[in-house]
Amino acid sequence: MAERFRVTYATLSDDDPRLHAGYETGVDLARTWLGATITGHISPGETEDVPSVEVTSPHDPGVVVSRVRTSTDRDIADAIAASARADRSWAATPWRDRLVIARRVAELISDRSNELAALMSMENGKNRLEALGDVEEAADMIRYYCDQMEANDGYDHPMATLNPAERTRSLLRPHGVWAVICPFNYPMALSAGPAAAALITGNSVVVKPSHHGAHTAAKLFECLREAGVPDGVAVLLPGGDEVGAALVAHPGVAGVTFTGSSAVGMSIVRDFGVDYPKPVMAEMGGKNPAIVSDKADLDAAALGVARSAFGFAGQKCSACSRVYVVAEVYEEFLASLVAVTESLVIGAPTDRDAFVGPVIDAAAVARYREAVSHAERNGRIAVGGSVLGGSTALPGHYLAPTVVTDLPVDDPLFHRELFVPLTAVAAVADLDEALRLANADPAGLTAGFFSREQSEIDRFLDRIEAGVVYVNRPAGATTGAWPGVQPFGGWKRSGSTGKAGGGRYYLPEFMREQSQTVV
Ligand code: NAD
Repeated sequence: MAERFRVTYATLSDDDPRLHAGYETGVDLARTWLGATITGHISPGETEDVPSVEVTSPHDPGVVVSRVRTSTDRDIADAIAASARADRSWAATPWRDRLVIARRVAELISDRSNELAALMSMENGKNRLEALGDVEEAADMIRYYCDQMEANDGYDHPMATLNPAERTRSLLRPHGVWAVICPFNYPMALSAGPAAAALITGNSVVVKPSHHGAHTAAKLFECLREAGVPDGVAVLLPGGDEVGAALVAHPGVAGVTFTGSSAVGMSIVRDFGVDYPKPVMAEMGGKNPAIVSDKADLDAAALGVARSAFGFAGQKCSACSRVYVVAEVYEEFLASLVAVTESLVIGAPTDRDAFVGPVIDAAAVARYREAVSHAERNGRIAVGGSVLGGSTALPGHYLAPTVVTDLPVDDPLFHRELFVPLTAVAAVADLDEALRLANADPAGLTAGFFSREQSEIDRFLDRIEAGVVYVNRPAGATTGAWPGVQPFGGWKRSGSTGKAGGGRYYLPEFMREQSQTVV
């Protein structure tokens, strides 16, 4: 049998036929999984006969991707109790043994990347390259965290001694039951990443996926089980927003990693840990700017902005949704951006050539309609502006990638995270004005800059208020981080701790220090 083609960051390229052949095999397999009931921890005595939510594909509302069983209050309490019991022996397991299991999880994810990615395309509408990227990012994140644990000797270090009779030591130890609450848009990377970080560092973990990521999360749990993560050490708890709220409100939860909208994240930051300070990491929304200087390569800038604004139909937290262009090159840049936008292929996420797929649901379509009508009244639609879904080829929630111009720079479209394929462009006098406007937003997740002049690049890097910044990147002005390469975390309203996923300061967030002195 031919060796299976391994997707890696390096092989994630559009033109490799092996990648496409593999993904298409994955589509065939993932189709057989459609409509499955997703259950998590079910309390003894409870039946599976409780309300479930039918999740349909954003591409086609006629396709049921899953039926997500809602976890009951009893399931939640029992899941946390089971997790707390299992946690004792897991925390006592030598960290090197935990790494062996975690690395096995990463291998299983990579082995199944095609079918996991295909399922994700059907579940949340991510195109094939993006979905494969999400899956492989999850696997690489786990590998990176394992490497970090080793590089730091398990965060266990001898300390100085003042008394020769004493042995002293500092070690980072787990907190206990860790809740991971996940968004719909990265159902593998943003469930596997934080869950693995919690597990590797010795916590047990309860994972609450989004409805549009629950099926993918259930497949991740198959990998965890098969790799040998013991029962109770990792628990899946599907359900809606109320399940997430009940989970973080439970006193048995010792720490939380939340990824999602700023409104929900800030409510968790405020309310979690009322009895004593407990760790909460909240990775939240963005309103990511790109700045285009008059010294930029304008074609690279247009390509980078279009890819970041319209990749995954504008539903990345890192999506570029506002662009500040120095006036001298504004018209030329805009013409180029419009041309690139018009060339983007809109299509079913499993199609080989589709770049822009559907948005997640009818609420996103409604936000888009409202934004477009606002832009028509207060500015100008340079390209796009129409709802495309409802046809035989594109039956689901499809929207035309849209560039909006001529709005005042303080217009709400420069500040509201919409999570749809729409970006607003404004002319500015110079780099200083662009930086002032870029920073004049409470969010600070990603930012991009295009200029060929080093002094401008230095000024941008020095002054921009964002956790992840890119300069001169046609592949993505504000998007495209990879674990171990671009640590990913927000500043200001986009993130609560400033310690980024896929970076070297992430794992200690899941532990607390104990200093030990033994005579
Ligand atoms: P969301 O906030 O609606 O939901 C995220 C998760 O939180 C879901 O599982 C949801 O059920 C749960 N939830 C909702 N209300 C809750 C509550 N009161 N208590 C506890 N849990 C609750 O976000 P979404 O629409 O799934 O995802 C999109 C958002 O996520 C965007 O704002 C995007 O920018 C953000 N995001 C941020 C990052 C990052 O790294 N900063 C990454 C991906 C997505």
